[in-house]
Amino acid sequence: MNPLAVRIARLIEVQGPISVAQFMSMALHDPVDGYYATREVIGAGGDFITAPEISQMFSELLGAWIVQAWRDQGSPSPARLVELGPGRGTLMADALRAARLDPQFQKSVEVVLIETSAGLRAAQAEVLKDAPVPVRWLERFADSLADRPVFVLANEFFDALPIRQFVFGERGWCERMVGVDRGGALTFALSPTPSPLAVPSERGIPEAGAVYETCPSGEALIEQIAHMIARKGGAALIVDYGYEGQSGFGETLQAVAHHGYANVLENPGEADLSAHVDFAALARAAQSAGAKAYGPMPQGEFLLSLGIVRRAEALSRNHLGESGIAKQLKRLVEPDQMGTLFKALAILPQNAPRPPGFIP
Ligand code: SAH
Repeated sequence: MNPLAVRIARLIEVQGPISVAQFMSMALHDPVDGYYATREVIGAGGDFITAPEISQMFSELLGAWIVQAWRDQGSPSPARLVELGPGRGTLMADALRAARLDPQFQKSVEVVLIETSAGLRAAQAEVLKDAPVPVRWLERFADSLADRPVFVLANEFFDALPIRQFVFGERGWCERMVGVDRGGALTFALSPTPSPLAVPSERGIPEAGAVYETCPSGEALIEQIAHMIARKGGAALIVDYGYEGQSGFGETLQAVAHHGYANVLENPGEADLSAHVDFAALARAAQSAGAKAYGPMPQGEFLLSLGIVRRAEALSRNHLGESGIAKQLKRLVEPDQMGTLFKALAILPQNAPRPPGFIP
């Protein structure tokens, strides 16, 4: 057992089993041994690679999307551009480059990056040191951001938020917990009493062993953001891997290290933990806060309708070499690559025009 596993096991011995969400949160964010505190997580040398690291085209199109949503609402000034979980800062740097096409936008926005990891904050500061707009950091999204229209970008952020899991059995839905076995190792165990949490029952009685996942912090965050957007204007564009129908059913919690799958409980802090995003639940949360949700749309269709092919042609003509660009394009849009599993969800005020890329 690594030092973080030992500490978690001690905590469980003292206070009893912890939820999967609490385990995820400690494994990812422990300030000493947590995954985001200790690793170089993103990129070819890290554990996983994300769309902005694959191709600048992704971030440029997202940047253009934000500028269009801003213009569609009358180019409000001042406004704020917020990114949740900016990783190495690549998305924001490339999006701001695309946004230079509208000097008015540049003059109007302040950038706020929401990031818990001190290491990644430093990497972002380096990449954005010559940014044409003021940039500052917050550890969490806050109500203090409610004084201006807020434009929000999030790529592969919501999958990293802690989930709770419930398993169906004779006693009903019981929460899956993390405990310790006789040998002192971390193990999954079910809570002995059923949970009062409401699980959708439209599909009748589930099979024994069925798993239901929820992401309470993700839904609460979307509600907070959607509420601001509904009242003050703005837009949010959320891209992630996840599912659309069958809200919450099925087990998707996974551990990834060195570009491969790992055991969830073994060596906490040494693998990335994530779960598929329940887009239907996020859309419902946005609507309940008074905003309008568009999508989710498969990433491939979304990028194609934003004109990624034209962008790829332009880049190939310039300097980057056709085959490299063609490969990047395929990776982002092909159904067997990121095109279908990844999806885009947009949140706007009720009366704002339909955002680009979201075909009715
Ligand atoms: N958006 C980037 C990085 C994705 S990895 C990209 O596409 O490349 C997830 C990012 O979210 C990391 O920057 C991580 O440190 C950050 N993060 C994870 N959980 C967070 C939380 N609860 N609050 C703030 N940032 C978080």
